[in-house]
This record gives sequence, C-alpha cells and structure tokens, in this order.
Amino acid sequence: MRITDVRERTVPIASDIRNAVIDFSEMTVSVLAIITDEVRDGRPVVGYGFNSNGRYAQGGLLRERFIPRLLRATPVSLLDPERGTLEPVAIWETVMRNEKPGGHGDRAVAVGILDMAAWDLAAKLEEQPLHRYLARRFGGGPAAEEVWVYAAGGYYYPGKDDEQLRREIGGYLEQGYSVVKMKVGGAPLEDDLRRIEAVLDMVGGDGSRLAVDANGRLDRPTALEYARALAPYRLRWFEEPGDPLDYELNAEIASAYDAPLATGENLLSMADARNLLRHGGLRPDRDILQMDPALSYGLVEYLRTMDVLRAMGWSTERCVPHGGHQFNLAVAAGLHLGGCESYPGLFEPFGGFADGAVAQASCIGLSEAPGIGMEEKAGLRPILDALVA
Ligand code: MG
Repeated sequence: MRITDVRERTVPIASDIRNAVIDFSEMTVSVLAIITDEVRDGRPVVGYGFNSNGRYAQGGLLRERFIPRLLRATPVSLLDPERGTLEPVAIWETVMRNEKPGGHGDRAVAVGILDMAAWDLAAKLEEQPLHRYLARRFGGGPAAEEVWVYAAGGYYYPGKDDEQLRREIGGYLEQGYSVVKMKVGGAPLEDDLRRIEAVLDMVGGDGSRLAVDANGRLDRPTALEYARALAPYRLRWFEEPGDPLDYELNAEIASAYDAPLATGENLLSMADARNLLRHGGLRPDRDILQMDPALSYGLVEYLRTMDVLRAMGWSTERCVPHGGHQFNLAVAAGLHLGGCESYPGLFEPFGGFADGAVAQASCIGLSEAPGIGMEEKAGLRPILDALVA
C-alpha cells in the first residue's frame, strides 16, 4: 500500500461576520486529499482533511514543504508494520522531520490538515467511522453515541441590533441547542451587557445556558472589568478574555472570577497547553479547555496533550474543542471529551456535521460512514470530487 498523490486547494469561506478582533471577509480553508493505490469498490481510497475556520489556508507550507516530504518518504516507512496499512503517526513523524521545537505558528495548521486526512484514511482502510476507530485505539471503551454540542454564534454583523441577535439565538434554540454562545468585547461593556441580557431573557435567565467569547481582545483592566460585570450572571463560561498566551493575566482573572473560564483554541501544541495548565490558573473542577486538533498539529499532537492534562489532574471531559466540524465531533466521541463546538449555518460547507444530523437537547449523533464521513455532506462533495478528478 502506498500514497500515490497528495493534492490541496484553497477554498474561500468569506462572510460578513466579525468577532471582537477579526472580520471573516478574507477567510479561507485548505482542503487536502491523500490518494492511495488501495482500491475498494473500484475506486482508490482517499483521506481528506481541512483546517478549522479562524485561521487561513496553508497552501504555501503544504506545497513547498510538507507534501513533498511525505511524497519523498519510502512507502514502507509510512505503514503500520503489523497491519500493512498507512499509519497516521508515521505520516505525522515524516512530515515533521527537520522541524525544530517551538515556533509553531501556521506550521501547526498545515500539519493539522495533513493529519486529519491521515486519520480519515486510516479509519476508511479499517472500514470504520472515525469515532469508533479512535475509541478502539485510544478511547478505553466504546465510542460515545452522541456528543454534547452548543451553538456558537452571536457574532457582530454590520447593522445587527438586539432584535436580530435574539432572532438568531431563537433559531438555535429551535434547532435543538439548549446552550448558546455569543461574542463580546467588540462593543463597549454596557452594550455587551445589554446584548447579554437580551439573550439571557431567551434562555429563562439561566446563565448556565449562555457562554460568552471575547476572542482574546481585552487588555488587563478591561478583562477584569468584564469579569466583575459578568460574575453575577453565572454564565456557562467566559471565553478568552485576554490574550490567549498571557497566562499570568488568565490566572489573575481566574482568581477574581469564580464562574467557569474557557480557553485554548489559540494554542498550537502540547507544550503550549502544558504551559497554560502550569501557569494559567485554570481550575480542573470547572474550566473548559478548547484546544482544536485541526489547528494544532492534528490528532497525533492532541493525544500527547491529552496525556499531559490527565497527568496534571484534568479529566478529558473538561475538553470541548473549538471548531464545529465532523472531525472534532468524531474526536470528541472517540476520546470521550466533554463536547464540541457547533456553528449552525456558519463556515459551510466545512463547518457543521453530517447532513440531516439534528441536535436534540444539545446533543448530536455521528455519521456511520467510514472515516470522517465528509462525503456524506452534499455541500462538500463537489470540492472533494474536484480534488481527486
Ligand atoms: Mg472562541
């Protein structure tokens, strides 16, 4: 068995939305296919990968460095010696050869794309849905049959007023989500508090059904001011108040804010996550870790992160990855994480889960298609087909 080609393409997912820091007018995704000489039902087995929304396509790094490294590898070096099938960990170690530690940056996104395709491929070669494949290899028990999800929306949008925000949130509640998240930090505090109260009113005033996300925007005094103002609402969580790498500030906020905090989506490696747990003041009994395998060297690195956090007294149930798509959903089900983000109607066709998957009481089931099951999404299929045509 060998890889015959690896192809990538940049696809736009631009939209008018913005969070407290960026707009999405230039947002792109890399989609990638690992094509093999293994033929099933008359067609080669192909693994597909892409990066989560929020960072950009990585065509340059993939074309110039990582794909050539993979294609130059001796085919047998990429195989599981016992099964004779392509092995994601071997693929990962091959593409990361000659890469120094640290300095993660966009490299972590590029490798995450290849890693996703490698796991899609590995599960397809075993003719299993990815969540069941991962549970068997790493999960220590059967995969979860459904995953807790919450609707991440409430973006700022040109001309959007509280009534439109309420309509948006009402749509998520109608779609079966009982917990929703909205952006903060992109408006003055008093405006954000008014927006929060408009949404809280829709969830019966229950703060545990609303999370807020400042996308790392707030400086120290403003973050502390927000923490003081948000505390009485007892929100589900307060996400990324300050710069995601300012662990001291995170610890200061944690000491002043009793309700849950959430962060981690902008960490790019196990070493970053370990630093957060060492120095960020987070509390294993309540806080949420949002590291996103699809933005941080993929699942191979994420498994290392899981080992570290368990050794530091954390349960993987505190992990709710950023990035609402099928890959992270499968990882959440296979590794028994606490849940997965969801962006109903946003970042399509990469965002979102299998066509027809419906949330009920904020839980969603998984596709039984082999691999990640991207081929089951009508919106994605033409993009995938074009890559291998
Ligand atoms: Mg976020």
